[in-house]
Amino acid sequence: MRTAPEDSPAVPLLDINRENRLVRDEVQQALARVCDAGCFLYGDEVRRLEARIAERCQVAHAVSCASGSDALLLALMAHRIGAGDEVILPSFTFFATAGAVWRLGARPVFVDIDPVTYNLSPERVEAAITPRTRAVIPVHLFGRCAEMAAIGELAGRRDLMVIEDAAQAIAAVHGDRAAGAWGDIGCFSFYPTKNLGGFGDGGMLTTSDQATAERLRLLAAHGMHPRYYHSRVGINSRLDTLQAAVLNIKEGQLDRMTARRRANADRYREWFSATVDEAQVILPADDPHGFHVWNQFTMRIPDGRRDALRSFLQDRQIGTEVYYPVPLHRQDCFAELGYGSESLPHTECAAAEVLSLPIFPELTVAEQRAVVGGVADFFSAANRAVA
Ligand SMILES: *Cc1c(COP(=O)(O)O)cnc(C)c1O
Repeated sequence: MRTAPEDSPAVPLLDINRENRLVRDEVQQALARVCDAGCFLYGDEVRRLEARIAERCQVAHAVSCASGSDALLLALMAHRIGAGDEVILPSFTFFATAGAVWRLGARPVFVDIDPVTYNLSPERVEAAITPRTRAVIPVHLFGRCAEMAAIGELAGRRDLMVIEDAAQAIAAVHGDRAAGAWGDIGCFSFYPTKNLGGFGDGGMLTTSDQATAERLRLLAAHGMHPRYYHSRVGINSRLDTLQAAVLNIKEGQLDRMTARRRANADRYREWFSATVDEAQVILPADDPHGFHVWNQFTMRIPDGRRDALRSFLQDRQIGTEVYYPVPLHRQDCFAELGYGSESLPHTECAAAEVLSLPIFPELTVAEQRAVVGGVADFFSAANRAVA
Protein backbone atom coordinates (compact mmCIF):
# COMPACT_ATOMS: atom_id res chain seq x y z
CA MET A 1 0.00 0.00 0.00
CA ARG A 2 1.38 3.38 -0.96
CA THR A 3 0.42 5.84 1.76
CA ALA A 4 2.61 8.78 0.79
CA PRO A 5 1.13 12.12 -0.12
CA GLU A 6 0.72 12.29 -3.91
CA ASP A 7 3.49 14.85 -4.40
CA SER A 8 6.03 12.98 -2.31
CA PRO A 9 9.00 11.90 -4.45
CA ALA A 10 10.53 8.44 -4.64
CA VAL A 11 13.93 8.64 -2.95
CA PRO A 12 16.78 6.32 -3.91
CA LEU A 13 19.25 5.24 -1.23
CA LEU A 14 21.99 6.34 -3.58
CA ASP A 15 21.97 7.85 -7.06
CA ILE A 16 25.55 7.83 -8.33
CA ASN A 17 24.50 9.21 -11.70
CA ARG A 18 23.71 12.60 -10.23
CA GLU A 19 27.27 13.24 -9.07
CA ASN A 20 28.80 11.66 -12.16
CA ARG A 21 26.65 13.77 -14.46
CA LEU A 22 28.31 16.90 -13.07
CA VAL A 23 31.74 15.77 -14.29
CA ARG A 24 30.66 13.76 -17.32
CA ASP A 25 32.27 15.90 -20.05
CA GLU A 26 35.50 16.36 -18.15
CA VAL A 27 35.69 12.62 -17.47
CA GLN A 28 35.01 11.74 -21.10
CA GLN A 29 37.85 13.97 -22.23
CA ALA A 30 40.23 12.48 -19.66
CA LEU A 31 39.29 8.93 -20.67
CA ALA A 32 39.84 9.80 -24.31
CA ARG A 33 43.30 11.14 -23.45
CA VAL A 34 44.21 7.89 -21.70
CA CYS A 35 42.92 5.85 -24.64
CA ASP A 36 44.89 7.95 -27.11
CA ALA A 37 48.07 7.69 -25.02
CA GLY A 38 47.66 3.91 -24.94
CA CYS A 39 49.11 3.65 -21.43
CA PHE A 40 46.62 1.75 -19.27
CA LEU A 41 48.66 0.94 -16.19
CA TYR A 42 50.74 3.30 -14.02
CA GLY A 43 51.62 6.62 -15.70
CA ASP A 44 50.90 10.24 -14.84
CA GLU A 45 47.25 9.86 -13.87
CA VAL A 46 48.11 7.22 -11.25
CA ARG A 47 51.04 9.23 -9.91
CA ARG A 48 48.90 12.36 -9.69
CA LEU A 49 46.20 10.58 -7.75
CA GLU A 50 48.74 9.13 -5.33
CA ALA A 51 50.16 12.62 -4.78
CA ARG A 52 46.68 14.07 -4.20
CA ILE A 53 45.74 11.46 -1.62
CA ALA A 54 49.09 11.77 0.18
CA GLU A 55 48.59 15.54 0.29
CA ARG A 56 45.01 15.24 1.47
CA CYS A 57 45.96 12.84 4.27
CA GLN A 58 49.19 14.69 5.08
CA VAL A 59 51.26 11.52 4.78
CA ALA A 60 54.54 11.06 2.94
CA HIS A 61 53.42 8.20 0.69
CA ALA A 62 50.31 6.92 -1.05
CA VAL A 63 50.44 3.65 -3.01
CA SER A 64 47.60 2.74 -5.33
CA CYS A 65 46.14 -0.74 -5.70
CA ALA A 66 43.15 -2.50 -7.23
CA SER A 67 40.61 -2.26 -4.38
CA GLY A 68 40.07 -1.50 -0.73
CA SER A 69 40.08 -5.24 -0.05
CA ASP A 70 43.51 -5.55 -1.66
CA ALA A 71 44.73 -2.56 0.34
CA LEU A 72 43.90 -4.41 3.57
CA LEU A 73 45.53 -7.59 2.28
CA LEU A 74 48.68 -5.75 1.18
CA ALA A 75 48.93 -3.89 4.50
CA LEU A 76 48.88 -7.18 6.41
CA MET A 77 51.33 -8.78 3.95
CA ALA A 78 53.71 -5.85 4.37
CA HIS A 79 53.89 -6.71 8.07
CA ARG A 80 54.27 -10.43 7.28
CA ILE A 81 51.14 -11.31 9.19
CA GLY A 82 50.18 -14.94 8.70
CA ALA A 83 49.66 -18.31 10.35
CA GLY A 84 49.84 -18.20 14.13
CA ASP A 85 49.15 -14.46 14.32
CA GLU A 86 46.06 -12.78 15.72
CA VAL A 87 44.58 -9.55 14.43
CA ILE A 88 42.03 -7.58 16.44
CA LEU A 89 39.15 -6.01 14.52
CA PRO A 90 35.46 -5.22 14.83
CA SER A 91 32.80 -7.73 13.82
CA PHE A 92 30.47 -4.88 12.85
CA THR A 93 32.07 -3.98 9.51
CA PHE A 94 32.12 -4.98 5.87
CA PHE A 95 33.44 -8.49 5.24
CA ALA A 96 36.72 -7.41 3.60
CA THR A 97 38.22 -6.28 6.92
CA ALA A 98 38.20 -9.85 8.24
CA GLY A 99 38.55 -11.59 4.87
CA ALA A 100 42.06 -10.17 4.43
CA VAL A 101 43.16 -11.50 7.83
CA TRP A 102 41.70 -14.95 7.16
CA ARG A 103 43.18 -15.28 3.68
CA LEU A 104 46.68 -14.89 5.11
CA GLY A 105 46.09 -17.71 7.58
CA ALA A 106 45.93 -15.38 10.58
CA ARG A 107 43.13 -15.43 13.13
CA PRO A 108 40.59 -12.61 13.23
CA VAL A 109 39.83 -11.70 16.86
CA PHE A 110 36.49 -9.91 16.89
CA VAL A 111 35.98 -7.21 19.48
CA ASP A 112 32.82 -5.38 20.44
CA ILE A 113 31.99 -1.81 19.41
CA ASP A 114 31.06 1.35 21.22
CA PRO A 115 27.26 1.57 20.83
CA VAL A 116 27.32 5.30 20.03
CA THR A 117 30.11 5.47 17.44
CA TYR A 118 29.78 1.87 16.13
CA ASN A 119 33.59 1.77 16.17
CA LEU A 120 36.06 -0.45 18.03
CA SER A 121 36.03 0.09 21.75
CA PRO A 122 39.65 0.75 22.87
CA GLU A 123 39.03 -0.92 26.27
CA ARG A 124 37.88 -4.09 24.57
CA VAL A 125 40.85 -4.04 22.25
CA GLU A 126 43.14 -4.01 25.26
CA ALA A 127 41.29 -6.91 26.86
CA ALA A 128 41.63 -9.00 23.68
CA ILE A 129 45.42 -8.72 23.35
CA THR A 130 47.38 -11.98 23.71
CA PRO A 131 51.05 -12.80 23.08
CA ARG A 132 50.04 -13.73 19.51
CA THR A 133 48.40 -10.39 18.70
CA ARG A 134 50.28 -8.60 15.93
CA ALA A 135 47.94 -5.91 14.67
CA VAL A 136 44.69 -4.09 15.23
CA ILE A 137 42.42 -2.87 12.42
CA PRO A 138 40.17 -0.01 13.53
CA VAL A 139 37.42 0.66 10.97
CA HIS A 140 36.14 4.23 10.56
CA LEU A 141 32.60 3.03 10.06
CA PHE A 142 30.06 5.15 8.18
CA GLY A 143 32.62 7.98 7.85
CA ARG A 144 33.35 8.58 11.52
CA CYS A 145 36.86 7.92 12.77
CA ALA A 146 37.52 5.36 15.47
CA GLU A 147 39.15 6.58 18.69
CA MET A 148 42.59 6.67 17.15
CA ALA A 149 44.44 8.48 19.92
CA ALA A 150 43.50 5.80 22.46
CA ILE A 151 44.04 2.94 20.02
CA GLY A 152 47.38 4.35 18.86
CA GLU A 153 48.61 4.81 22.42
CA LEU A 154 47.61 1.26 23.30
CA ALA A 155 49.17 -0.21 20.16
CA GLY A 156 52.41 1.65 20.82
CA ARG A 157 52.54 0.35 24.38
CA ARG A 158 51.82 -3.26 23.35
CA ASP A 159 53.91 -3.18 20.16
CA LEU A 160 51.05 -3.78 17.70
CA MET A 161 50.73 -2.54 14.13
CA VAL A 162 47.75 -0.30 13.43
CA ILE A 163 46.11 -0.71 10.04
CA GLU A 164 43.26 1.72 9.49
CA ASP A 165 40.32 0.54 7.42
CA ALA A 166 39.43 3.99 6.09
CA ALA A 167 37.38 2.67 3.16
CA GLN A 168 34.34 4.70 4.27
CA ALA A 169 36.22 7.68 5.62
CA ILE A 170 38.21 9.54 2.99
CA ALA A 171 38.53 13.20 4.07
CA ALA A 172 37.51 12.41 7.65
CA VAL A 173 39.60 13.89 10.43
CA HIS A 174 40.04 12.90 14.06
CA GLY A 175 41.84 15.25 16.43
CA ASP A 176 44.70 16.79 14.48
CA ARG A 177 45.07 14.07 11.87
CA ALA A 178 43.24 12.77 8.82
CA ALA A 179 41.88 9.26 8.49
CA GLY A 180 44.72 7.27 6.99
CA ALA A 181 47.40 9.26 8.82
CA TRP A 182 46.96 7.71 12.28
CA GLY A 183 47.97 4.12 11.68
CA ASP A 184 51.13 2.51 10.34
CA ILE A 185 49.12 2.08 7.15
CA GLY A 186 45.77 3.49 6.01
CA CYS A 187 43.54 1.61 3.55
CA PHE A 188 41.09 3.33 1.20
CA SER A 189 38.55 2.10 -1.33
CA PHE A 190 37.26 3.80 -4.47
CA TYR A 191 34.32 1.41 -4.89
CA PRO A 192 31.55 3.43 -6.58
CA THR A 193 29.46 3.88 -3.40
CA LYS A 194 32.30 5.29 -1.31
CA ASN A 195 32.63 9.04 -0.77
CA LEU A 196 35.25 9.12 -3.53
CA GLY A 197 34.03 6.51 -5.99
CA GLY A 198 35.42 5.51 -9.37
CA PHE A 199 33.82 3.78 -12.33
CA GLY A 200 34.70 0.37 -10.92
CA ASP A 201 37.15 -0.91 -8.33
CA GLY A 202 40.19 0.89 -6.96
CA GLY A 203 42.12 1.31 -3.74
CA MET A 204 44.91 3.25 -2.05
CA LEU A 205 47.33 2.75 0.84
CA THR A 206 48.81 5.57 2.89
CA THR A 207 51.88 5.55 5.10
CA SER A 208 54.53 7.94 6.33
CA ASP A 209 57.24 5.30 6.42
CA GLN A 210 59.29 5.08 3.25
CA ALA A 211 60.37 1.46 3.76
CA THR A 212 56.72 0.46 4.25
CA ALA A 213 55.71 2.33 1.08
CA GLU A 214 58.40 0.54 -0.91
CA ARG A 215 57.33 -2.83 0.46
CA LEU A 216 53.69 -2.12 -0.43
CA ARG A 217 54.65 -1.19 -3.99
CA LEU A 218 56.73 -4.32 -4.33
CA LEU A 219 53.97 -6.59 -2.96
CA ALA A 220 51.35 -5.03 -5.25
CA ALA A 221 53.53 -5.98 -8.24
CA HIS A 222 54.22 -9.68 -7.58
CA GLY A 223 57.13 -8.84 -5.30
CA MET A 224 59.05 -8.17 -8.46
CA HIS A 225 62.09 -5.87 -8.59
CA PRO A 226 63.92 -5.53 -10.84
CA ARG A 227 61.89 -7.00 -13.66
CA TYR A 228 61.59 -10.81 -13.39
CA TYR A 229 63.43 -10.95 -10.06
CA HIS A 230 61.11 -11.77 -7.15
CA SER A 231 62.22 -11.17 -3.58
CA ARG A 232 58.81 -11.96 -2.05
CA VAL A 233 55.57 -13.53 -3.24
CA GLY A 234 53.27 -10.61 -3.88
CA ILE A 235 49.99 -10.20 -5.75
CA ASN A 236 48.90 -8.37 -8.87
CA SER A 237 47.00 -5.34 -7.64
CA ARG A 238 47.08 -2.23 -9.77
CA LEU A 239 44.84 0.78 -10.11
CA ASP A 240 43.89 1.18 -13.78
CA THR A 241 45.03 4.41 -15.40
CA LEU A 242 41.44 4.88 -16.62
CA GLN A 243 40.18 4.74 -13.01
CA ALA A 244 42.89 7.14 -11.86
CA ALA A 245 41.81 9.60 -14.57
CA VAL A 246 38.22 9.48 -13.32
CA LEU A 247 39.29 9.71 -9.68
CA ASN A 248 41.58 12.71 -10.23
CA ILE A 249 38.58 14.64 -11.51
CA LYS A 250 36.24 13.45 -8.77
CA GLU A 251 38.84 14.10 -6.08
CA GLY A 252 38.58 17.74 -7.06
CA GLN A 253 34.88 17.54 -6.11
CA LEU A 254 35.39 15.66 -2.86
CA ASP A 255 35.38 18.62 -0.48
CA ARG A 256 32.22 20.01 -2.05
CA MET A 257 30.54 16.60 -1.95
CA THR A 258 31.60 16.04 1.66
CA ALA A 259 30.20 19.42 2.66
CA ARG A 260 26.88 18.41 1.11
CA ARG A 261 26.84 15.11 2.99
CA ARG A 262 27.48 17.02 6.20
CA ALA A 263 24.72 19.52 5.44
CA ASN A 264 22.34 16.62 4.75
CA ALA A 265 23.27 15.03 8.08
CA ASP A 266 22.71 18.31 9.95
CA ARG A 267 19.33 18.73 8.28
CA TYR A 268 18.26 15.18 9.16
CA ARG A 269 19.29 15.64 12.76
CA GLU A 270 17.49 18.97 13.04
CA TRP A 271 14.30 17.77 11.37
CA PHE A 272 14.16 14.42 13.13
CA SER A 273 14.71 16.06 16.51
CA ALA A 274 11.59 18.13 15.84
CA THR A 275 9.39 15.31 14.55
CA VAL A 276 10.19 12.01 16.23
CA ASP A 277 10.63 10.76 19.79
CA GLU A 278 14.32 10.36 20.60
CA ALA A 279 13.59 7.06 22.34
CA GLN A 280 12.07 5.67 19.12
CA VAL A 281 14.65 6.95 16.67
CA ILE A 282 18.21 7.20 17.97
CA LEU A 283 20.10 9.58 15.72
CA PRO A 284 23.78 9.22 14.84
CA ALA A 285 26.03 11.73 16.60
CA ASP A 286 28.58 13.97 14.93
CA ASP A 287 32.19 13.42 16.00
CA PRO A 288 32.92 16.02 18.71
CA HIS A 289 36.66 15.54 18.21
CA GLY A 290 36.77 15.37 14.45
CA PHE A 291 35.22 15.74 11.03
CA HIS A 292 32.60 13.10 10.22
CA VAL A 293 32.18 12.54 6.46
CA TRP A 294 28.85 10.67 6.62
CA ASN A 295 29.36 7.84 4.15
CA GLN A 296 26.15 6.62 5.78
CA PHE A 297 23.50 8.25 7.96
CA THR A 298 22.67 5.36 10.23
CA MET A 299 19.96 5.55 12.85
CA ARG A 300 19.02 3.01 15.46
CA ILE A 301 15.42 1.85 15.74
CA PRO A 302 14.93 -0.04 19.02
CA ASP A 303 12.04 -2.22 20.22
CA GLY A 304 12.12 -4.55 17.23
CA ARG A 305 10.53 -2.00 14.90
CA ARG A 306 13.39 -1.54 12.44
CA ASP A 307 12.16 -3.97 9.80
CA ALA A 308 8.59 -2.67 9.96
CA LEU A 309 9.86 0.88 9.45
CA ARG A 310 11.99 -0.29 6.58
CA SER A 311 9.08 -1.89 4.75
CA PHE A 312 6.85 1.13 5.46
CA LEU A 313 9.48 3.34 3.79
CA GLN A 314 9.85 0.86 0.96
CA ASP A 315 6.11 1.18 0.27
CA ARG A 316 6.71 4.89 -0.17
CA GLN A 317 9.61 4.13 -2.50
CA ILE A 318 12.17 5.45 -0.04
CA GLY A 319 15.40 3.48 -0.22
CA THR A 320 17.11 2.31 2.97
CA GLU A 321 19.67 -0.36 3.79
CA VAL A 322 20.90 -2.34 6.76
CA TYR A 323 24.68 -2.13 7.15
CA TYR A 324 25.24 -4.82 8.38
CA PRO A 325 22.56 -7.40 9.20
CA VAL A 326 24.83 -10.34 10.11
CA PRO A 327 27.94 -9.50 12.13
CA LEU A 328 31.11 -11.17 10.91
CA HIS A 329 31.58 -13.34 14.00
CA ARG A 330 28.35 -15.11 13.08
CA GLN A 331 29.12 -15.67 9.39
CA ASP A 332 29.19 -19.33 8.34
CA CYS A 333 32.71 -19.02 6.96
CA PHE A 334 34.02 -18.10 10.41
CA ALA A 335 32.04 -20.75 12.33
CA GLU A 336 35.20 -22.60 13.32
CA LEU A 337 36.36 -19.55 15.31
CA GLY A 338 33.65 -20.52 17.79
CA TYR A 339 31.92 -17.23 18.52
CA GLY A 340 28.34 -17.48 19.73
CA SER A 341 25.55 -14.97 19.28
CA GLU A 342 26.08 -13.83 22.90
CA SER A 343 29.78 -13.00 22.39
CA LEU A 344 29.52 -9.36 21.29
CA PRO A 345 26.34 -7.79 22.71
CA HIS A 346 26.71 -4.24 21.35
CA THR A 347 27.46 -5.63 17.89
CA GLU A 348 24.40 -7.90 17.98
CA CYS A 349 22.20 -5.05 19.13
CA ALA A 350 23.48 -2.74 16.37
CA ALA A 351 22.91 -5.40 13.70
CA ALA A 352 19.29 -5.72 14.86
CA GLU A 353 18.56 -1.99 15.12
CA VAL A 354 20.48 0.00 12.51
CA LEU A 355 18.93 1.53 9.42
CA SER A 356 20.78 3.73 6.92
CA LEU A 357 18.98 6.50 5.04
CA PRO A 358 19.79 8.29 1.76
CA ILE A 359 22.59 10.83 2.43
CA PHE A 360 24.36 11.11 -0.94
CA PRO A 361 25.63 14.60 -1.89
CA GLU A 362 23.06 15.39 -4.57
CA LEU A 363 20.04 14.39 -2.47
CA THR A 364 17.49 17.20 -2.68
CA VAL A 365 15.81 19.00 0.20
CA ALA A 366 12.41 17.79 -1.06
CA GLU A 367 13.67 14.22 -0.99
CA GLN A 368 15.01 14.64 2.51
CA ARG A 369 11.67 16.06 3.61
CA ALA A 370 9.97 12.97 2.18
CA VAL A 371 12.32 10.69 4.13
CA VAL A 372 11.75 12.52 7.41
CA GLY A 373 8.01 12.66 6.74
CA GLY A 374 7.95 8.93 6.06
CA VAL A 375 9.69 8.08 9.32
CA ALA A 376 7.47 10.47 11.29
CA ASP A 377 4.30 9.04 9.71
CA PHE A 378 5.36 5.51 10.57
CA PHE A 379 5.78 6.37 14.23
CA SER A 380 2.64 8.47 14.53
CA ALA A 381 0.60 5.64 13.02
CA ALA A 382 2.33 3.11 15.30
CA ASN A 383 1.83 5.32 18.36
CA ARG A 384 -1.87 5.79 17.54
CA ALA A 385 -2.26 2.03 17.27
CA VAL A 386 -0.77 1.59 20.74
CA ALA A 387 -2.84 4.40 22.34
C1 LIG B 1 34.12 -1.02 0.89
C2 LIG B 1 34.86 -1.48 2.09
C3 LIG B 1 35.98 -2.30 1.98
C4 LIG B 1 36.42 -2.94 0.70
O1 LIG B 1 36.69 -2.09 -0.34
P1 LIG B 1 36.58 -2.64 -1.86
O2 LIG B 1 37.19 -1.55 -2.64
O3 LIG B 1 35.14 -2.86 -2.14
O4 LIG B 1 37.36 -3.90 -1.94
C5 LIG B 1 36.66 -2.62 3.15
N1 LIG B 1 36.25 -2.19 4.34
C6 LIG B 1 35.15 -1.41 4.48
C7 LIG B 1 34.77 -0.95 5.84
C8 LIG B 1 34.41 -1.05 3.37
O5 LIG B 1 33.31 -0.30 3.52
